[in-house]
Amino acid sequence: MSAVTDEQTVRDVVSEVLARLGQASPTNGSAAPAASRSVKGRFGVFDNVEDAVAAANDAQRQLVTRTLEQRGQAVQCIRDIVINQADELGRMELAETKIGRLDHKIEKLVVVGEKVPGMEMLCTDAVSGDHGLCVTEHAPFGVIGVITPVTHSVPTLACNAIMMIAGGNTLVCNPHPAGANCAAEATRRWNRAIAEKIGIENLICLIATPTLETAEAIFTHRDVDMLCVTGGPGVAAAAMASTKKAVVAGPGNPPAVVDETADIENAATGIIFGAAYDNNLLCIGEKEVFVVDAVADALLAAMSRHGGYQLDAAQTAALAEAAIHQDAKSGHYIPDRKFVGADPTVLGEAIGVSVPAGTQVLYAETDERSPFVACEQMMPFVPIVRCRNVDEAIAKAVYYEHGFGHTAIIWSRSVDNMTKMGKAANTTLFIKNGACMTGLGLGGEGFVSYSIATPTGEGPTSPLTFTRVRRCVMVDNLRIL
Ligand code: NAD
Repeated sequence: MSAVTDEQTVRDVVSEVLARLGQASPTNGSAAPAASRSVKGRFGVFDNVEDAVAAANDAQRQLVTRTLEQRGQAVQCIRDIVINQADELGRMELAETKIGRLDHKIEKLVVVGEKVPGMEMLCTDAVSGDHGLCVTEHAPFGVIGVITPVTHSVPTLACNAIMMIAGGNTLVCNPHPAGANCAAEATRRWNRAIAEKIGIENLICLIATPTLETAEAIFTHRDVDMLCVTGGPGVAAAAMASTKKAVVAGPGNPPAVVDETADIENAATGIIFGAAYDNNLLCIGEKEVFVVDAVADALLAAMSRHGGYQLDAAQTAALAEAAIHQDAKSGHYIPDRKFVGADPTVLGEAIGVSVPAGTQVLYAETDERSPFVACEQMMPFVPIVRCRNVDEAIAKAVYYEHGFGHTAIIWSRSVDNMTKMGKAANTTLFIKNGACMTGLGLGGEGFVSYSIATPTGEGPTSPLTFTRVRRCVMVDNLRIL
């Protein structure tokens, strides 16, 4: 036996032993080729990237041989589980991540099951003419590498899985480590149900113990055909630097502008509803408000009538001190993880304020230099900044959105002001007179998606985002009319 073969044999044996022990490779989260290892019986949950990608590849090859009806059945299995087991999965996610609100965790799962679009979006387009026929269809990419945030671990994975499988793809997910167990449990349940229904086991694959190394191994794996990354600035930048096609759903810091023509009661209700949702974990959630002076007092008063609790200047300063830190290197404000997605009462306790029962959100009048304005705080506190006029409010909204191009909101009855802000903000979602979630079809028009591709420009992702457009042409005299 040659030295090379000896070395290979030893590596194979070590990999096999590690695989049996359920450990990832100690080097980079990837392991030796998985050809000889069994990927059956794992129901999509793997210890290393190599096995997960091999399983997803094998599953994808099977999926494209099946009928579209069977593909639809696989998608339906995911929908049924997130709807019928929403309570259990929502509790599981909250228990593990310890952020957000149970009622909203459950609702987010039901919404995925009921409203995320599927195969009905993949319409074939045909043109016939003197020169024959041209058919445009949507083909799968193959295996998609997926990164999900801790803020919506199971809902984002479910949403991605429905859309990607509808498009004929399979996926390998590196979930956020703090939400990996609930994502793994949901993955097992989906794969089991799909295997029972159509006999394919690993349409959704997931790394059980995700690390930055396993993310990197997915980003660079030759058998991963594209990436879909949902998360904050770090992972968005990493995905943008990848040589693979990447759909990047990056961070936001959505401003809401309230002008002098707005319906103030509606504005207060909408801002509270959006900012309170899952304790302000949504990337689209209202994070700061710029209100025109003429109606600022009215808005501040109205918010307390709709579930808001107003902090004074000293309390706000104390909360900022406790809950937001400045990163020494970048100078950016970063929320303290202890308060991200925490209940308003927890924020209150940190500063010695007893928050009344039923409070949805804390708020205060601040100046624009409050750390809460620049920071995507992801906690139920909203800073309200008074502005001289709508032009100042719009300019500040644009500035503090940081060019993420994510979401901006205006409450106004002036079409001129709406148009002015729409042009200036240039965000992916621009919402007029509605809470943030109306921008994703909840109380507004349009379909639901939990991955809003911002820097890469796909917008709210859909099954079409995960397909390649293919044109099939036949040149002949085919017209019958
Ligand atoms: P996060 O950036 O901390 O983590 C997101 C994911 O990326 C996790 O799985 C994490 O492990 C991974 N990750 C982080 N840095 C990485 C790197 N350098 N390389 C590879 N992987 C890396 O974000 P989070 O706290 O989990 O989620 C909140 C953030 O996600 C917010 O900024 C929010 O706006 C954003 N978000 C965006 C959307 C959207 O649709 N645009 C949706 C939900 C959340």
